[in-house]
Amino acid sequence: MIRRLLPSLLTALAGVAQAVPVAVDVGHYLERPGATSAYGIAEFEYNQSLSAVLAARLAMDHVPVRLIGWRGEMAELRERPRQAEAAGAGFFLSIHHDSVQESQLAPWQWRGRVMRHADGFAGFSLYVSRLNPRLEQSLACARAMGAALREAGLPIATHHAATASGSGGLEWADEAQGVYYYDNLVVLKTANVPAVLLEAGVIVNRDEERQLAGAERRTLTAAAVARGLRNCGVIRR
Ligand SMILES: [Zn+2]
Repeated sequence: MIRRLLPSLLTALAGVAQAVPVAVDVGHYLERPGATSAYGIAEFEYNQSLSAVLAARLAMDHVPVRLIGWRGEMAELRERPRQAEAAGAGFFLSIHHDSVQESQLAPWQWRGRVMRHADGFAGFSLYVSRLNPRLEQSLACARAMGAALREAGLPIATHHAATASGSGGLEWADEAQGVYYYDNLVVLKTANVPAVLLEAGVIVNRDEERQLAGAERRTLTAAAVARGLRNCGVIRR
């Protein structure tokens, strides 16, 4: 009996010993809180809430988490990966929520205030930088997270892609899994560890914002991210 169980027991113990801390970076900060949602809520609030759910999910999987910019104090982008690495993180994941170009927003009234929405855009997207020294691992994890998010039933946001002529947008790294190259994203290119940025959904889409504000979508996203990190080897158990 013990001989049969030992290999899996050792694997489990090794998994505990090898657990690499994951940095969960809360995108933006209080003074400049990112995009404004269709209902007038700052992106930072969404990033903070999803980061909390994700951190709890990873903790349940016995993965040490380093929250970066949690209190909304991180004004300096380069400081984010520095702080993560100083805290021993072996992977950097930046959490954001998506918007669209100014010209694509349309006005509408909500509780007596003029808000702006773009209901034609939806879905998640992932970003890696070719300037990150660990591009291969970054891309493998972005793909794995994208695959898990798709399996969870979430659509891919395609509106950041360059047109056929190659102008006006980003190049796909893996279109099928929702992964773009965004070489000059500061937190990705200045990180020395594998790094991925997640846009969890489009908060200027009135329907999707309602979903993104709910526990169900956050739990679904966090579980998919954890599954992706397991499939690309960051989480070993
Ligand atoms: Zn953002």
